[in-house]
Amino acid sequence: MGLIVQKYGGSSVADAEGMKRVAARIVASKKAGNQVVVVVSAMGDTTDELIELANAVTPIPQGRELDMLLTAGERISMALLAMAINNLGFEARSFTGSQAGVITNSVHGKARIIDVTPGRIQEAIDEGAIAIVAGFQGISQDTKDITTLGRGGSDTTAVALAAALEADVCEIYTDVDGVFSADPRVVPAARKLKTVTYEEMLELAAAGAKVLHLRCVEYARRYDLPIHVRSSFSPNEGTWVVANHPEGYSLGKGTNMEQAIISGVAHDKSEAKITIVGVPDRTGVAARIFQAIADADINIDMIVQNVSAATTGLTDISFTLPKSEGSDGTAVLQRIQGEVGFASILYDDTIGKLSLVGAGMRSNPGVTATFFAAMSEAGVNIEMISTSEIRISIIVREADLDRATKAAHTAFQLDADQVEAVVYGGTGR
Ligand code: ASP
Ligand code: MG
Repeated sequence: MGLIVQKYGGSSVADAEGMKRVAARIVASKKAGNQVVVVVSAMGDTTDELIELANAVTPIPQGRELDMLLTAGERISMALLAMAINNLGFEARSFTGSQAGVITNSVHGKARIIDVTPGRIQEAIDEGAIAIVAGFQGISQDTKDITTLGRGGSDTTAVALAAALEADVCEIYTDVDGVFSADPRVVPAARKLKTVTYEEMLELAAAGAKVLHLRCVEYARRYDLPIHVRSSFSPNEGTWVVANHPEGYSLGKGTNMEQAIISGVAHDKSEAKITIVGVPDRTGVAARIFQAIADADINIDMIVQNVSAATTGLTDISFTLPKSEGSDGTAVLQRIQGEVGFASILYDDTIGKLSLVGAGMRSNPGVTATFFAAMSEAGVNIEMISTSEIRISIIVREADLDRATKAAHTAFQLDADQVEAVVYGGTGR
């Protein structure tokens, strides 16, 4: 008996059958004596389809209107799901993000939650109803306009609500059985992780693992809220995202490894690389460039700057950013080209990023050497490198990325003996 927040992703509620299956699962949790709050995503690929529709009427949809359009996807789901639950003889009430008290700032398309005041949700569950909340959306505190939290944002809605309601657990239902050591669509031998720490999950999410939204993990860590990632298509225990691995945790194949060195390998094809050629090597120049990028609200990832050539005093700076922000990024740089005085801008969107993540990296030397040796054996050239305490990321050619991912997974003995990963749904879009 407790308070559970459950989140169902788009592939779990892709059609009427899916809605009914999920409704039965929610009712089972309720029957087990729990108070249940459900956060739901838009059905299947609805969000992508709505974006395509917007782009078909205008090349540049206005942020306010695009958010209004996209939030409709989750409203469809929440109402249908409530109906399906009612049909099973249980009371369910649906709420928009705004009704559920999800208050955000006013940045359309990637609003941040600044407060959650779930009075109506608390009231509904206190009265014995199941509350269904539309994910991915909120209302801006100052403009009072409807906002969205960014792609995949329903996870964040769920964790934010769970924290505000002081839930016992937040269950994230998806189309795979949990968090895997790699994306099973690319590495069929990926294994399911029993546990993953908040910090590892943050690195994995930032590195492009799509299973959880980055901000949802930040939120869970801040409130020390356990997340259970599992499939809505099977009864299997999933992956627990928690503060620490349990004592004696090991991923290794019956080895005597004290702790897995690497928990997972993540790959990402969503980034592009910009190279600024011939940048004067003077104090303040890099600050000027990255201030301009920041002012345009563009999130950059890796940065590499060469040592300047002694004869010219010029250097090259490369950085990666989401492909979707590539044209904004280049436009910003073109605007300051005269003032900063660099030679040219190169844009490359055929790169891929591969990351290794593991808390065990801290205390085990040689991880980089093993990683790079595996890349060399696979014939993969490394173009950029960045590291944190528990992560190593490299940029390679996009065409090499899948091969590189498999090679890294094998090199760290993560391959499962039998195929563990079943992809139950979703179009992988
Ligand atoms: N429907 C939104 C998306 O597809 C939010 C979500 O699924 O979490 O990005
Ligand atoms: Mg979705």
